[in-house]
Amino acid sequence: MDLTTAEWHERARIAPLPTKPFIDGAFMDPISEETFDCVFPADGRVIAKVASCDGRDVDAAVRSARAAFESGVWSRMSPLDRRKILLRFSELLLEHRAELALLETLNVGKPITNALNGDIPSAASCIAWYAEAIDKVYGEVAATPSDVTTMIVREPVGVVAAVVPWNYPLSMAAWKLGPALATGNSVILKPAEQSPFSALRIGELAIEAGLPRGVLNIVPGLGHIAGKALGLHMDVDCIGFTGSTEVGGYFMQYSGQSNMKRIGLELGGKSPQVVLADCEDLDQAAKSIAAGIFSNAGQVCNAGSRLVVEDKIKDKLLEKVIAHATALKPGDPLDPSTKLGSIVTQEQLTRVLGYIDAGRDAGASIVAGGNQALKESGGYFVEPTVFDAVDNSMKIAQEEIFGPVLSTITVKNFDDAMTVANDSTYGLTASVWTGSLKNAHRAAQAIRAGVVWVNCFDRGQFNAPFGGFKQSGFGRDKSLHAMDKYTDLKAVWFAH
Ligand code: NAD
Repeated sequence: MDLTTAEWHERARIAPLPTKPFIDGAFMDPISEETFDCVFPADGRVIAKVASCDGRDVDAAVRSARAAFESGVWSRMSPLDRRKILLRFSELLLEHRAELALLETLNVGKPITNALNGDIPSAASCIAWYAEAIDKVYGEVAATPSDVTTMIVREPVGVVAAVVPWNYPLSMAAWKLGPALATGNSVILKPAEQSPFSALRIGELAIEAGLPRGVLNIVPGLGHIAGKALGLHMDVDCIGFTGSTEVGGYFMQYSGQSNMKRIGLELGGKSPQVVLADCEDLDQAAKSIAAGIFSNAGQVCNAGSRLVVEDKIKDKLLEKVIAHATALKPGDPLDPSTKLGSIVTQEQLTRVLGYIDAGRDAGASIVAGGNQALKESGGYFVEPTVFDAVDNSMKIAQEEIFGPVLSTITVKNFDDAMTVANDSTYGLTASVWTGSLKNAHRAAQAIRAGVVWVNCFDRGQFNAPFGGFKQSGFGRDKSLHAMDKYTDLKAVWFAH
């Protein structure tokens, strides 16, 4: 896909933008008459007004999902047939890669090249991975006395609501849709209000692939209205949520206040990238550290936002990280050569700049970036920013900034590094750079996080689980473990 910047802009100008809920196999006029604005974050222009669904629209989506589930049209379809449809769905995502990538960039301002080569193929791979898994997971037979046979089987929970964030809109949706649909559930997808386009478009592609109507419904809407209505709904059996820790807490409350629906929470992080003095390749570490915090403009749940480095090598390493930061220039996300796009909204831009001020006021020193960029564009760009002399108790080291801001915290030795790495309410991911096998194992054991990378960062495949410890949530996305969230275990005893 070798389009020029001008060609992408032309496509953006004429792209049809879906704005209505997708319920029962088709776009519907919403009952709610409210809308919300979608803004292209690279220039601040309103590009669409999207239906702000309320409880009545959510009800319609849940009714459709429930009816599809109870009819058995999907939940009791042969696994091999479900596999075939989901594989076709995955193929269609790839066939519509350019269109979907453009929708992602228009919604969130990420570089078109990343959306095209990362987000969309990754979402398609996720759906394909779970499609392939459908007929390869087995039940169990328990060791019970010879007068009985006891089968342990997994059944779909029923109606699943997937409530997802805006940073990787289609990818995050696929992490829920793959395992939830593969196991036979009906799903209601609620995209973030910043990024509804790709989610709505895939409703049509799912139908084209052969997914029966009602099995996938999509409701655009505001969190505190449509998201809350799903959280409190008495006929939603399970919530697969990815988003902030604060909203994750609300979903636990919604569950308790309604029908005790099951919840899986993939929440925020403040991931440490630990570099020990025995690190063998500081060049590689610096490159990876910069990618770990500046990719997707730092709007990543597992962004490596804390550089925890031993004092002996701090100056040498930091110099290299700064070189990467200053070489990375924010640019037009529709230019295929752009590597750093915009921040998602004006609100988020203000938040990120507020954290930069807070770091400066607390006494940390800015050694790269620190400013808004490309102001004349009308968009929301921030320079890659690196702080030195950060104390781990500072706000910039404790709170999730969700922007391209790295905090450098200098430590004295291994134990100090582990203490700082774990001194966080979050526990999503971490990395450690060391040339010592012993230190690698000790660190992997000591760090309280759902994923630990040794001498690398952000490696992942669909056969390895992803998710957090502590306030980064519970339950896992990716891998066969993700299927646990969307199934119930049933023990069946046959007396002979
Ligand atoms: P958010 O929590 O504000 O919103 C996430 C979703 O929840 C959106 O669909 C939103 O509409 C909905 N929502 C918001 N308020 C709600 C409410 N009161 N009731 C019900 N639903 C509500 O998060 P965000 O700003 O979209 O995304 C950024 C956050 O997501 C960050 O904290 C990031 O770390 C996290 N995230 C985590 C992972 C992971 O896998 N752990 C992946 C990506 C993003």
